[in-house]
Amino acid sequence: MKKTVLITGASRGIGRAAAHAFARAGYNLIITCLKSADELTALKMELEQSCPVDVLPFVGDVSSASDMEALFEAANSRFGGVDVLINNAGISHIGLLSDMSLEDWNRMVGVNLTSVFLSCKLALPRMIHQKSGKIINISSVWGVAGASCEVAYSACKGGVNSFTKALAKELAPSNIQVNAIACGVIDTQMNACFTEEERLALMDEIPAGRFGTPEEVAALALQLAEGNDYLTGQVIVLDGGFL
Ligand code: NAD
Repeated sequence: MKKTVLITGASRGIGRAAAHAFARAGYNLIITCLKSADELTALKMELEQSCPVDVLPFVGDVSSASDMEALFEAANSRFGGVDVLINNAGISHIGLLSDMSLEDWNRMVGVNLTSVFLSCKLALPRMIHQKSGKIINISSVWGVAGASCEVAYSACKGGVNSFTKALAKELAPSNIQVNAIACGVIDTQMNACFTEEERLALMDEIPAGRFGTPEEVAALALQLAEGNDYLTGQVIVLDGGFL
């Protein structure tokens, strides 16, 4: 029986790379994004043509309880549940906290943190019933260290890191592992706001001398999904020595 992975935010960047890695490993996939239905359909065709897997695309907002319920209803009826859940969808917000509106704050918390609560709650009944499952949260080094001008983002990712550690303890008796990957700077559209000069200056601060690739994050997510059942509650920093 093929395993099923659900990857949120898979239309591009890290989520898209993870979709390719899991398809190559033979997983059926549920891939989601906020609004790029065409990109998601194109990705589904790409994956199904290159690997013998079934792919269910779903467009919806991870911060919406009703969208997430519809997503899991579709996933459960198509594949009978989710074996691996990758909470990857996320947004950043750069600016001084004093300039941030409550609306923007709530949006950040909704997309980056409440989404993780919603998806885990919906994935768990099946995982607990089958006494196995892997939850992988894509987090950030800023959730460990905190970043100036990214206070809300840091708070959300710090929340994801604590959520990961706490839920891992709650679920270890059910043989469900919960881990997070705290990424450093990964070369995706999330960082498209940087000028070439800013990119070079940032690279200069990273001991590895470069940004990470989405494929490197995807490879670690696959390792966590396939690997050791005794590894749980960890926030694994993947940052080229940045922190
Ligand atoms: P990206 O901007 O390239 O892709 C984000 C994905 O999330 C897209 O598919 C988008 O559709 C989806 N998304 C955004 N808001 C959504 C919503 N409300 N509902 C559903 N889907 C939504 O970003 P990325 O760099 O690939 O980031 C993926 C994850 O990695 C995020 O959680 C991000 O915080 C984390 N991360 C990225 C970096 C980095 O440097 N790129 C560093 C640390 C952590």
